[in-house]
Amino acid sequence: MSTEPRNIRDVVRFLRQRGELGLDEIFLERLTREQVLRAANEARAQASGEASGEAGGEASGEARRGAQAERRGVPARAPDHGTARADASQPDDVEISAAQVDIAGLEYSELASVADCCQRCRLAEGRTRVVFSDGNPQARLIVVGEAPGANEDRTGLPFVGQAGKFLDLLLASVDLSRKDSVYICNVLKCRPPGNRDPMADEIELCSPFLKRQIALVAPEVILAVGTFAAQLLTGTNRPLGKLRGSVYTYEDVPLVVTYHPAALLRNAGWTRSTWDDFQLLRQVMDGS
Ligand code: SF4
Repeated sequence: MSTEPRNIRDVVRFLRQRGELGLDEIFLERLTREQVLRAANEARAQASGEASGEAGGEASGEARRGAQAERRGVPARAPDHGTARADASQPDDVEISAAQVDIAGLEYSELASVADCCQRCRLAEGRTRVVFSDGNPQARLIVVGEAPGANEDRTGLPFVGQAGKFLDLLLASVDLSRKDSVYICNVLKCRPPGNRDPMADEIELCSPFLKRQIALVAPEVILAVGTFAAQLLTGTNRPLGKLRGSVYTYEDVPLVVTYHPAALLRNAGWTRSTWDDFQLLRQVMDGS
């Protein structure tokens, strides 16, 4: 089925709403293109009517942040990955080409769904799972890593295995956790074969997903871990050792950079510097 970019959001929303209502799966190939788009348009009209009826009321602090996030389509709670996978599986019935989609205009669940079936670069061929994110999509902090490894490719989650445990320990050392106060993702959503370095064209093709993730999560601070994330977000090609220790901005959001935990496992001598980077991160988060 061919799908025009402007209609994809409606189709995705239509499928998601069916899932939320507990309706049976449908197979789009049994419907004509017109039938699918008509149903999607009806779902959109219904959703916009409900949204306008809910507007109003006061919000403050966390509640305001949550309300703002919900308006961007960001989930109100840390996602259950079983649910996330179920949501992400819905568009499998639709041939969505991420190359045709205006990624900058997608809402959160749409973005995850489009990434889940993305074929924009060569890494789609060898991946087992697309690794979109972990943690709380309404967190104050985004951690941006490099690319999935073997464990991440198998589980669909970023930063699992030894490097992930190390990252969790470093976050805990400054009172942060991926369960409720951190959102984690990578520059690349699919694993490079043999854990090789990301290639420039892969980063260029995949970075719109990251850019949109950051815009939707709207963090107060970003932590880039590893050379590729640090160079992409600072817009430089300086080595990480020269980048760390300073506070940058990405789209007006304060940005701290540090070593990738996998690199730390190989270079214990960088542990002290990394500790200092996390103290700097805490200071930025505390506004001091
Ligand atoms: S790495 Fe990014 S651009 Fe390449 S296929 Fe995966 S999601 Fe798409």
